[in-house]
Amino acid sequence: MKKIITRFAPSPTGYLHVGGARTALFSYLYARHNRGSFELRIEDTDIERSTQASVDAIFEGMDWLGLEYDGEVRFQSQNLERYQQQLDRLLDKGHAYYCNCSKDRLEKIREQQKNRGEKPRYDGKCRELSLTKSDDTIVRFKTPTTGSVTFDDHVRGQITVANEELDDLVIARADGMPTYNFSVVVDDADMGITHVIRGDDHINNTPRQINIYHALGYPIPEFAHVPMILGDDGARLSKRHGAVNVMQYAVDGYLPEAVLNYLVRLGWSHGDQELFTKDEMVTLFDLAGVNKAPSSFNTSKLKWINQQYIQQADVGRLAELLAKRLKSLGVESRVDLAAVVGLFQERAQTINEMADMGMFLFKELDGYDEKAVQKAFKPGAEDALQAVIDQCQVISDWQSADLHQLIADVVTNLDVGFGKVGMPVRLALSGQAQGPANDVIMKIIGQEETIQRLSEALTFVKNHHQ
Ligand code: GLU
Repeated sequence: MKKIITRFAPSPTGYLHVGGARTALFSYLYARHNRGSFELRIEDTDIERSTQASVDAIFEGMDWLGLEYDGEVRFQSQNLERYQQQLDRLLDKGHAYYCNCSKDRLEKIREQQKNRGEKPRYDGKCRELSLTKSDDTIVRFKTPTTGSVTFDDHVRGQITVANEELDDLVIARADGMPTYNFSVVVDDADMGITHVIRGDDHINNTPRQINIYHALGYPIPEFAHVPMILGDDGARLSKRHGAVNVMQYAVDGYLPEAVLNYLVRLGWSHGDQELFTKDEMVTLFDLAGVNKAPSSFNTSKLKWINQQYIQQADVGRLAELLAKRLKSLGVESRVDLAAVVGLFQERAQTINEMADMGMFLFKELDGYDEKAVQKAFKPGAEDALQAVIDQCQVISDWQSADLHQLIADVVTNLDVGFGKVGMPVRLALSGQAQGPANDVIMKIIGQEETIQRLSEALTFVKNHHQ
């Protein structure tokens, strides 16, 4: 069987966005599933809009998601000679021609066609004029006037377009730069791409490209056009729906394998299965499972998937990510972050959420929850807080002390219900009525900080009750 070669061909005019990453993932999986090759080509012939920062952002995004590509990256801007060579071939064989129609003229015919209710298209004025190259000539492809183009799209099924519908598209600009539809064909052919997997915003280009393949005598690859991604509101996914830049998810506290898992389900399914390891994705992915309908981005599902991955993740790794998040917030913490991870690993949906949940452990409290104050700092709370402080002060080895027992002893000594001690202590330690067990909080923040917080609460309660 012929080796399968796919590619991802982004234009470096922005970051790696969710749609691009999903296309890259499908191309990647199709190649890996078939033990083929997945290649990266940067389509940077639009010099005005392409930037090195975008190239770097694409590499960074692919690297974060673990979408390893094979071989060297190919840059279209470094392949201009090859396009020129193939352009000359088309011109020599009469498949392309120079055109010097002015912008004004093109504008005018477009206007007239629109007025007549026709589809705007080039009228073919220069097609048979045999013009030679000059400073203001562009090159147009001589699209066949009869017949049609048919291809079997792996997602959309059979598509047929009459050549009449396609006009003579521009394949090189006056400055010699090839246009997308031309360079993409030359590169896909030169790279031996067997399967072009891309967004369906390109589906109208495919028949034009197939005509160019024919004219150059290249074999035609197979095509799979992946439906677009919509926001939760049904409009095309855009910035206003939240993070569209893949790296924003790193900043927002998502794990790359969770984002990858989310992306694969965005337009592809395998029964009802929601969670896939990368190996499973490779084993199970096929183009037949790609949905025809657009998929909707759903942030709560992404969060749920991320939570599943956080639950399974290595504690040390999560602690490192948590440390990074705290650093970015300018929070300096002395507590054992692995212990904090242990507290919230089940519940937190993102690392950032974990940081928020644990903030009372990292930073001084900024006050007490008002409702909780009414309930927990009642008369009698002073005695409870004071008794716990006294007990804490006599402990010599905090880390091995049984702090749960310490509180239980205070309860027994004061001869009160557990809540009479537990509630004020929790509020004193965390500022909230709910949260992890007191002895766990005390262990994490340490002896000194525990005594300090309890003492502050005691002062607060005394003032409160005056
Ligand atoms: N550079 C094009 C884009 O980013 C690639 C389209 C294709 O894959 O053919 O949309």
